[in-house]
Parts: sequence; structure tokens; C-alpha cells
Amino acid sequence: MKPVAFDYERAGNLEEAVALLRRADAGAKLVSGGQSLGPMLNLRLVRPELLIDVRRLQSLRRVEESDDRILFGAALTHAEFEDGEVPDPTGGLMRHVAGGIAYRAVRNRGTIGGSLAHADPAADWLSALTAVDAAVQVRSQAGERVICLSDFVLGAFTTALAEDEMIEAVAVPRLSAASAWGYHKICRKAGEFADAIGAVVVDPERRYCRVVMGAVDGPPVLLEEMAEALAAGGAEAGLAKLDAAVEVALPEAAPAARQLHAVAVRRAIGQVYGR
Ligand SMILES: Cc1cc2nc3c(=O)[nH]c(=O)nc-3n(C[C@H](O)[C@H](O)[C@H](O)COP(=O)(O)OP(=O)(O)OC[C@H]3O[C@@H](n4cnc5c(N)ncnc54)[C@H](O)[C@@H]3O)c2cc1C
Repeated sequence: MKPVAFDYERAGNLEEAVALLRRADAGAKLVSGGQSLGPMLNLRLVRPELLIDVRRLQSLRRVEESDDRILFGAALTHAEFEDGEVPDPTGGLMRHVAGGIAYRAVRNRGTIGGSLAHADPAADWLSALTAVDAAVQVRSQAGERVICLSDFVLGAFTTALAEDEMIEAVAVPRLSAASAWGYHKICRKAGEFADAIGAVVVDPERRYCRVVMGAVDGPPVLLEEMAEALAAGGAEAGLAKLDAAVEVALPEAAPAARQLHAVAVRRAIGQVYGR
């Protein structure tokens, strides 16, 4: 199939992009890397009247470092993270995750902001950035707001973005030198979306510990009791809670699917504790 006819505008700056969004009144779609939007247009799953191209906006390609976080422009590509062209505040987690997304051709064009806005539950950035407690900086003509990622994703392919809002940047906290992370993605072959994701970040210096189960039907799930047990008693204590935590989080899932998710989380914890 081919897309329905649409108009195309390349925004010259951020103000123009949000003005076009506002004016189109829900009839517009932003396009960044086009890696998810392209197929959706072709399948006519979306039928916008206007495409607003934001890929080349310099303000969406900026990197701003501060003491406790780095702000990444929404149009930075997966490949730029993979290649280390931008700094990594997470001690290698972001670089690792980027390198495991799809194939190089997709990574060359796909962007961090596009991935978060698309909110495919199986997307890698969604789980990994939830594990580090990242936040999205959102812009509309009315101004700016910041939404932490665990509040941003409301469900599969559904976010807290209003029709006239766009993602401007993603704020990623700096992990301390004492931190450790684990990220395990289960997929049938390299380059595919995940069937299950386990993402774990332990940062004793910041008293921070998060365990995320991703590639479920909705937003990534925070396994909070497990994280508390991990922080207090280490791997054994955390793992003792795993099966029960997965069962509570996925009551409707088939046993094989639960097992897959448990394995992904267990392996991510194993990476943190070197087991
Ligand atoms: C073959 C294939 C395999 C893939 N495998 C994986 C995988 O293993 N893991 C993974 O995580 N992803 C995977 N992807 C998805 C890929 O990572 C996409 O790059 C990403 O999901 C979307 O980014 P994009 O920049 O291409 O967004 P686009 O396709 O341009 O846009 C996607 C959506 O986001 C909106 N949008 C874009 N930019 C913004 C913005 N700044 N603010 C608000 N809304 C915006 C668009 O309107 C659209 O609704 C795969 C894609 C393909 C084609």
C-alpha cells in the first residue's frame, strides 16, 4: 500500500515546528528518522494531512552537559550513541543499548526522540531510559514541561504528549563511578524487536536501584520490591523475589512468556553482580 496524500513542511526552527503542529490541529505528524512512521504511513495506520520534518533542526541535535545529567536533543540518532559521538552519562549503558537496536541502516536514521514518542513497548530506549530515570523535555507553543519517563508512557504506543506538543530533548541522569548496570534483550534474531527486556541499574553512591521489565504489553514495569531487596541484600535477596514479582506484574501472561521475562531480568541482574 501507499500513504494517503499529505503536505510536507521542513521546519526551519523549533518555534516554526510547534507553530505548524498547533495550526494543523491534530492533522499533523512530526517526522524525524521516519523508521517507524514510514511503515505506518505505507500501511495507512496513520493518515496525517501534514508531515512536519524536524530531523535537521540543530536545537534537536544539541548535547548539554551539567553536573548531574546530560540533555540530549531528540533528533540524535541511535548510531550517534552507538559510535560514542555523544557522551554517555550511564557508564556505557546507552552505547550498549543503541548498538542493539535493529540494524545499522535503521540506527543511522532512527532517533532517540522518535523512539520514545512512538512508544512501542518493545523499544529498547523505553526500558533502558526508564531504568536510569530519564525524563523528556516537551515543547509546545505554550511553553515547556518535563515529564519523567515512567509518567510519559501511558500504554502501548500511547504517551502523555498532547497533540500540539513535541519532544525537544531527553534528560539522562549521570550514574556515579560506583554504579553498575545490566541490560538483557531477548529476541529471536539480532536486529529484531525484543520479546523480553531486563534492565537493572544499581548506584549505591546515589542510593539508587531500579529493576525494569520491558517489552510487556504496556509501559515498562518497575519491579520495586525486587529493587528494594537488591539494594538491601544483593543479588540473592533480589532474585528470591523474581518469580513472584513477574507473576504479579503479568497475571494474564502465559507461563512461557513469564519465564522469558524472568530470564531477561535474571540475566540483567547477573551482569550487575558478575554472576
Ligand atoms: C526493521 C526495523 C527494526 C527495528 N528494530 C528495533 C529494535 O530492535 N529496537 C528498537 O527500540 N527499535 C527498533 N526499531 C524502531 C527504530 O528504533 C525507530 O528509529 C524508532 O522507533 C523511531 O524513531 P524515528 O526517529 O525513526 O521516528 P519516526 O519514525 O520519524 O517517528 C515515530 C513517531 O514519533 C513521532 N515523533 C518523531 N519525532 C518526534 C519528536 N521530536 N517529538 C514528538 N514526536 C515525534 C512521529 O510523529 C511518529 O509518530 C526498528 C525499526 C525498523 C524499521
